[in-house]
Amino acid sequence: MSACKVFFTLYTKLDNRQESGFAQTMKRNVREKFKDCDLCELPFHYGFGRYELKRSEKLNMFFCDICAGGNWDGIVPEGHEQFMKRVAELGFDTSLNKKGWFDLY
Ligand SMILES: [Zn+2]
Repeated sequence: MSACKVFFTLYTKLDNRQESGFAQTMKRNVREKFKDCDLCELPFHYGFGRYELKRSEKLNMFFCDICAGGNWDGIVPEGHEQFMKRVAELGFDTSLNKKGWFDLY
């Protein structure tokens, strides 16, 4: 039996092993502590003492530290057409700031 096949067999057995209720609960808890950023749509920790998203009360959305930090003075609407479309569809005010950008907060 090749090393690959041994590894695959062991991996499959481990993957199908019976998990305790505790393990299942912990995995579900960890999965539920992730939330997608509403701008870049990537998942980030949000819970269990790690909060990598900032809530926008203006839009009732969550933005990751990268998006929030990089767009503190607004986003260029032409660069985020899908996001701007979604904001308009949700009925939020899409007016732009003095620079011609859209404020997330
Ligand atoms: Zn983001």
